[in-house]
Amino acid sequence: MLSLARMEKGILFLSEANATDMTVRKLYYENAYIREFDATVTSCREISDSRFAVTLDRTAFYPEGGGQPADTGVIRVLDASPAPGGSAANQASPGGHGANESTPAAAANDGYGANPATPAAAANGGYGANESTPGGYGANQATLAADANGGYAVNEAGPGGPAGGIAVLDVREGGDGEVVHFTREPLPAGAAVRCALNWERRIELMRHHTGEHIVSGVINRLYGYHNAGFHMSMGAGANAGVNFVSVDASGPLDGEQIAEVERLANDAVRAGIPVASACPAPSELAGMAYRSKKEFSGGVRIVTIPGADACACCGLHVRRTLEVGLVRITAWERYKGGTRLYMLCGRRAEEDYGAKNAALREIAELLSARPETAAGAVRRLLDENAKAAYAIGRAKTEITRLRAENLRVEDTALACVFEEDGDFADIALYAGIAAEKAEIAAVFLKNGEGKYRYAVASKSKDASALAKELNRAFSGKGGGKSALAQGTLTGSEEDIRRLAYAAANEICGERS
Ligand SMILES: [Zn+2]
Repeated sequence: MLSLARMEKGILFLSEANATDMTVRKLYYENAYIREFDATVTSCREISDSRFAVTLDRTAFYPEGGGQPADTGVIRVLDASPAPGGSAANQASPGGHGANESTPAAAANDGYGANPATPAAAANGGYGANESTPGGYGANQATLAADANGGYAVNEAGPGGPAGGIAVLDVREGGDGEVVHFTREPLPAGAAVRCALNWERRIELMRHHTGEHIVSGVINRLYGYHNAGFHMSMGAGANAGVNFVSVDASGPLDGEQIAEVERLANDAVRAGIPVASACPAPSELAGMAYRSKKEFSGGVRIVTIPGADACACCGLHVRRTLEVGLVRITAWERYKGGTRLYMLCGRRAEEDYGAKNAALREIAELLSARPETAAGAVRRLLDENAKAAYAIGRAKTEITRLRAENLRVEDTALACVFEEDGDFADIALYAGIAAEKAEIAAVFLKNGEGKYRYAVASKSKDASALAKELNRAFSGKGGGKSALAQGTLTGSEEDIRRLAYAAANEICGERS
């Protein structure tokens, strides 16, 4: 295997390519925190116009699977002839260890390693240990800072990290277990390459994936429901990152139960529980209690968060629940007889809390209420609004009645009224009252430029006959019965008046 290698801050440097091993080495299963690594291109084929499928002899790019989206990142071809004095990779200490498993650098980077062994850690859920062990807390802080810095600077920082390079757009696992990296540019087979993951994306996915385990484990423990589905929705462009994670619990949950799930999930996060993964032997597996979501090739991989969850899973997870940061169940709905929960973790959860808090504060300010009493203030406002709307409706009816009653009508056949004032929307009531002053009453209410809503009413004649004439002449729509017809039409007031009088006289003349 690898004779010279070194591991620093999640960056794996290799001095020897393992070209004889035809099986891709899945570095992500060896150490999920490798964010830069060297590899050799084993094949590259054009699969469609400007789309290439690239395989490497080893990869830390996780292919989509088990509900976890694929990694993205960059691949850069290394110079064929290293500079005198050797590249960074060649400076590894002689007698170096297996790259990922046990190098001192890897252990230091882990940072948490010492805590489980400390009795105080077990007793205090991981917190006490840091305070009572001299230097313990400092070590953890340093690690968190290193993670954070490494996370954002992956493409720029890191010794010899691939600035630029060819973008890895997607990664999939082929049927034969090979891991295929999709790019827009070809890479020469046999080339030595340096690869870098989009670490911010990966660590966020691992935080959410681990958070999902904790939530599903708590639901399973409290209510006996299993996880019937799990989805990570990713944004693009400016909204890149996790949009939301949905978890489908197999049974109904109410708001109180969901709040309890969230509380216990965050307790598990704060406890800083180590997350372990292993592929137990079948005999060992038979005696284990674990949730099972998805099968994967090459045996069953059990991901264990002691006291919180044990689940068969092929995805990637953070080392400690503490790294999940925060679990927020943002919404839920009934789904296929169970419950679909929407959740966010870590910084996404903080952002969601921040945005919602800002919105609630703004609402409270508008209502001159405290955020805690804003809902009551909104309810009162809606009540008052409904009462006001009812009063306005009554007032409009009264205005309509008064206007109709005070209408002066000269013509005996038709009472014709044009109004622009929307204060009386009830033109049918208006026409009904006006119809007592002539054989037929027609009321037109302006409804945009050259457009009118109309109501035609009559106590003794066929109002719908006039409506038909109006519709025909003015591209109108609508109709009704003999006593009342309503519709819309388009035309000038002058033309409409002329036609309405002529038609009304005809209707009255014919039938009187
Ligand atoms: Zn998982």
